[in-house]
Amino acid sequence: MGGISGVYLHNKECFDTLIQLTFHLQHRGAESAAIDTSAAVAKEKIRPDEVKKGFSEEDRNHFKGKYGVGSVSGGTAEFVNLYSSMGEFSIVFDGQINSRGLKKELMSSGESFSTRQDAEVLGRLISKGDDIVDGIKKMNERVKGSYSLGILNNDGLYLTRDPYGIPPLVVGKKEGGYAFASESPSLTELDFEDFRDVKPGEILKINEDGIKQVGMNESERHAHCAFEWGYTSRPDSIIEGIEVMQVRRRAGKHLAVNDDLEADRVGSVPMSGRGYTEGYQEESGLPQQSYFYLNRWSGRSYIPKDSEIREQKASEKLSPIQGSIRDKRLVVVDDSIVRGNQMLRLRNVLKGKGAKEVHARIGCPPLRAPCPYTSTTKKYSDLIFNRSNGNIEEIARELNLNSLKYNKIDDFVKAIGLPKEELCLGCFMDEYPT
Ligand code: SF4
Repeated sequence: MGGISGVYLHNKECFDTLIQLTFHLQHRGAESAAIDTSAAVAKEKIRPDEVKKGFSEEDRNHFKGKYGVGSVSGGTAEFVNLYSSMGEFSIVFDGQINSRGLKKELMSSGESFSTRQDAEVLGRLISKGDDIVDGIKKMNERVKGSYSLGILNNDGLYLTRDPYGIPPLVVGKKEGGYAFASESPSLTELDFEDFRDVKPGEILKINEDGIKQVGMNESERHAHCAFEWGYTSRPDSIIEGIEVMQVRRRAGKHLAVNDDLEADRVGSVPMSGRGYTEGYQEESGLPQQSYFYLNRWSGRSYIPKDSEIREQKASEKLSPIQGSIRDKRLVVVDDSIVRGNQMLRLRNVLKGKGAKEVHARIGCPPLRAPCPYTSTTKKYSDLIFNRSNGNIEEIARELNLNSLKYNKIDDFVKAIGLPKEELCLGCFMDEYPT
């Protein structure tokens, strides 16, 4: 999982704005970050750290220029700088593509690669075009999967989104410049208030003349990632005109409407469980309380690939608030259950602090299939739903919960508010749009 950003400023160097834009995407990946600017003199552009740790004051002297692109990732930031017949260009990328097959094909026709980045595969394909726009179109004919990408070259910035519109991408303007980012808070936090979604397949160019559509890769079917509203995106993100927090609230209400549970209070698993909890509370009338203190210095628990580090991160992230827990029948609301490790650990902590009962309510429908479009869950066997043969009562038993309920797919879709045919629901339905 990752995120991308880009900016052009009329009258000043873009470094500070670019760092801020990219920093606001950090929840999409905090293992590494990359930036490049139109007059950069720094050779090393990918840094193995969070944005604000990876890039320092000194970098301001290296990353000169009014144009810039940025990238964050839970692995190695997807960034590459290439020289080609159409000149030098840099690419930032978020998504998941059929890179192994494409790489093989390209190598058999004499191409060689200097990095392991999928961004390089995309760059090599684009460089086969007559110009950047033609190259993006040619690339799109061969690539399967999902992508949002930004390109910096001598003409300015180019950006595009796969024709299904799977990962989000927004573009905005303000007095003094233009910017794009995987999520809208990057823009609004920096006063790029006038923003819109990049249309699926749309190719945009940004330079001193403004934002202009320069191409389109059409598709009859759109498939916006539903998990962006369910978990991935920030609650204050607006995707396809729909605010993530409102979706989570509506989904929480659906959970409560379908529930006849007797309990004493409801609380969330911070932070992405919060919106669902508010909706559940509003509909059920149960008092809402915080069960956990969130250590905001910890990253998201499922991003690290190493399971030991994931576990360690999960346990350092949340600590219990005893007075909310003891002798109470608790409803705990979370966004989703992937492997079940976090829910089991939290249940044990709550029980250990004296909770009488622990009932889990999950805002998303059960995750039953891997995602081919992001680097989140890879295998069917990773998912607790499959380990329990799709039996929810069995999952509740495995997690020692008094009860467990998930949102139904139709209620979740209703909460998003787009037609089902406009969404990717692959990891919930095991059916994919591409
Ligand atoms: S499979 Fe799931 S996580 Fe992947 S794009 Fe589709 S909805 Fe999103």
